[in-house]
Amino acid sequence: MGYPASYVDRLIRHEGSYLPMIRYALRCDRNHDFDMWFADSATYDALAQGSHVACPECGSTVVEKALMAPGLAKAQKPQQMSNTPAPRDIAKMITEYRAKVLAETTDVGRRFPEKVRDMHEGVIDQAPIRGQTTPDEAKALLDDGIAILPVPPEPPKEN
Ligand SMILES: [Zn+2]
Repeated sequence: MGYPASYVDRLIRHEGSYLPMIRYALRCDRNHDFDMWFADSATYDALAQGSHVACPECGSTVVEKALMAPGLAKAQKPQQMSNTPAPRDIAKMITEYRAKVLAETTDVGRRFPEKVRDMHEGVIDQAPIRGQTTPDEAKALLDDGIAILPVPPEPPKEN
């Protein structure tokens, strides 16, 4: 449940490195509620502000975080949406995010599918890891409700 088809398609076609990720409940400007998975709030902000997060029902890219549970509603302040960065800044944010991911996660290589599954099942402690999967392995993890995210690719070099 919960993955827009286009997103999963992109995810499973991406061969390379993956990360475990967290879920956000989102709502578009036509009040459709949906869930999507992101590595962290910085990734969400970069993608949403670049209009890369679309409502699976109506395609609107005017999307904001919905509240995860009614009990949290009072404590939450509205998100700052005023200072929308320019596309160049989004590219920079993604580049910085990639550097942060590489700096803060341990590369477990081809053992990633096994490790992330063990973490999901509580066999081993949660830890920030990255590693490689095949598209089939990525799809199997998603099918089992284990969310993973492609590590952002290296940006093209400017000439
Ligand atoms: Zn919508």
